[in-house]
Parts: sequence; structure tokens; C-alpha cells
Amino acid sequence: MSDIPKLDRAAVLERAATYLAHDGNLPFDPVVPPIYQTSLFTFRSYGEMEDAFSGRTRRPVYSRGDNPTVMEFEKRIAGLEGAAEARAFSSGMGAISATLLAFLQRGDRILSTRHIYGDTFRLFQRLLPRFGITVEYVDATEVEAVAARLPGARVLYLESPSSMVFELQDLPRLAALARAEGVITIIDNSWATPLFQQPLAHGIDLSLHSASKYIGGHSDTVAGVVAGSAELVGQINQNTFSMFGAKLAPFEAWLLLRGLRTLPFRLPRHEASALTIAERLRDHADIVRIFHPGFSNHAGTATLLGSTGLFSFEVNETIDVPTFVDALKVFRIGVSWGGHESLVVPALATLRQTPDYNALAYFGVSARLIRLHIGLEDPAILWADLEQALTKARR
Ligand code: PLP
Repeated sequence: MSDIPKLDRAAVLERAATYLAHDGNLPFDPVVPPIYQTSLFTFRSYGEMEDAFSGRTRRPVYSRGDNPTVMEFEKRIAGLEGAAEARAFSSGMGAISATLLAFLQRGDRILSTRHIYGDTFRLFQRLLPRFGITVEYVDATEVEAVAARLPGARVLYLESPSSMVFELQDLPRLAALARAEGVITIIDNSWATPLFQQPLAHGIDLSLHSASKYIGGHSDTVAGVVAGSAELVGQINQNTFSMFGAKLAPFEAWLLLRGLRTLPFRLPRHEASALTIAERLRDHADIVRIFHPGFSNHAGTATLLGSTGLFSFEVNETIDVPTFVDALKVFRIGVSWGGHESLVVPALATLRQTPDYNALAYFGVSARLIRLHIGLEDPAILWADLEQALTKARR
């Protein structure tokens, strides 16, 4: 869409690199923020305590609420997302559940894009109905399909690109429609990271992440974060955050701050290697289809400043999926992504769960779909690994 203000990708990456290299205003000016490994913070007087409890001053009181190391991480994410505030959690699911439940009550309806992350789907299928909250799924690649079902919804839940099949959504148009209906928009922005997509700039209300992926970047941390206006993040703080207790530990926040500093350099490498490999797979005789946002001409590509290392493809019937997976030597078999290492996940392995519990089965994902995460290794070695595994797996 031509009316989307296209941010300059190079400038975003350069600005982020400089912004993340400096942590300001800490006592004694350390170049790395200290880990505040403490459960509580004491007061020097009754008055100080009263100021904190009345909200006159905002300062750490107890680490299930605010902790300075965690606050540094929250500040960085808010800065990168162009948000007033961010709130960190001990997992992406912690962020997703606390964010949604901060705004929902009995009788409310979520309108959700299909092909969402598996545990988000399970939250929608299994838990929320017990509290009288319903979820309706829609093919949100079609703006008209969303428009038809939006009236009366409380939340529009998006994942662009979506899990496993990387479906794109037109964020500016969906955000405008939702705003007109008074519907809160929430996006899982884990795939693009705050560097390659800033949803708030396109009218989305809340952008959340599994920080366990590219933000941490080293497969050593599980964490989550949500960013948005002071008012909406304030409602999360008021309604769910400290009561649910999924708080981020200071050491994890420190690891995430460390991971973040190299995000502007890691992402272009993941992107270039993944595009090289996806292009070769596309030309391979045994590949039926590639699911990679970089190959799409959907309007949803307009808000992406780049692509990352996660995509999927479908093999033809001559390829035996388990043999292919077992023949890989460099790719490791594992469910997460966003770290330095390359990974493979066959949809087949997880399709065995019942459809009401499994988003892949529920939305009819092919049993010949294979997801790859392209890590930081030499792409030539990764390609050679895939090619020899495809040859071995041919029936
Ligand atoms: N969103 C997406 C797209 C994911 O892939 C994941 C985890 O794999 C999550 C959310 C959940 O994040 P976490 O595992 O940090 O709870």
C-alpha cells in the first residue's frame, strides 16, 4: 500500500545498534547494567514508602513488580517498538495470557487470525471458554473477512507473519477497522522482531513477543514482553501483571539486554541465509511450495522492513518426512527458533494431537509441511545438508 510511511530499514538498524550499545543514567555509569538480584527494595522513611504506595513516585518495591534490570530491558523494547511503555514477562505465553486477560471478561469475544502459535491456540480453546470468553477464527489475510466479523468483538488478535505457514495481515487497514469499532488490536510480533516491524506505527494497540526467540538470540532464555501506550500497559499492570506473577528474572533480563545488542547484526544474516536457502528449495524438484513472507506480494509485506530465518516448505509425495528429518546432520530437531542454530520441525510429528488441541490439525496444515529455522552457520553447509537429506528421503 502506497500510503504506508515506509521506514528506512538501514536507518532503523543503524539507530538501533547505537541505541542498544549505550545504557544511560545508571549509578557509576557501568557499560552493562548490573543484575539487581534482590527480591525487595527498602525505604528510608515512612514518607518514602507512602509515596511509592500512593503512586506519587514510581520506584522498585518488590521484584515481582519492578526490578531495575528488568526495567532497563522494558525501556529498550519500548524504544525499539516506538511505544510509551513495555512490560516484560517470564515467557511469551506469560505476556500473551496476561495481556489478553487484562482486557477480557465473561461474554467477550476475541476475533483471531488462524494459524496462531500452538499454546496461544490451546489458551483460546481450552482455558478462555471456561471463563465465558469465546474465540472466533478468521482468515485475516482477507481484510473483508475480518471487517464482517469485527463488530462486537473485544480484541482482534493477529500474528503477522503467522505460525508455521507465515500468513500475512494488512496491519494498517485492520488497525483502522478495529479502531472504528472500538476493538483492541494485539499482535504477536515475534517473527519480525521490533526491528523489522513496528506495528504501533501502523495503528496496532499492543505488540508482544516471545523474547525467547530473536530478542534473546542465543537459545538460553525464555521470556516475553508487550509494548503499547501508557494507558494500555497500565491496564495490564493493574489487572493481571503482578497478580499472575509471570515476572521476568533479573538475570534473564540481563541476558536479553546482552542479546539485544547484536540483534541489528544477527537479523540480516538470518535473513540473507534463509532467502538463499528458500530460493534453492523453491527450485528443487521435490518441493511443492514455499511459505516465506519474502516471496509474498500480500499487502502485509508493506509493514515488514525485512525477513528473518524462519520459514516452511511442503515436500511432494516422493519424500518420506521422517527419513528426511533423520538424515539431516547440521540442522537439529527442535521446536523453538531465533537462536544461532539451525533447526527443523516437521508438522507431521505434532499433527497426532486432537484437532481441538492442535492448531495445525484444526486449520488443516499439510502433513508434508516442514519448518526450518536458518541459524548463523554457513548457508552453503546448510544447503548441502538439506540437499543430501532430500536425496536420502526420496522413495
Ligand atoms: N509466539 C510465537 C509465534 C511462538 O513461536 C512462541 C514460542 O514458540 C510463543 C509465542 C510463546 O513464547 P514462549 O515460548 O516464550 O512462551
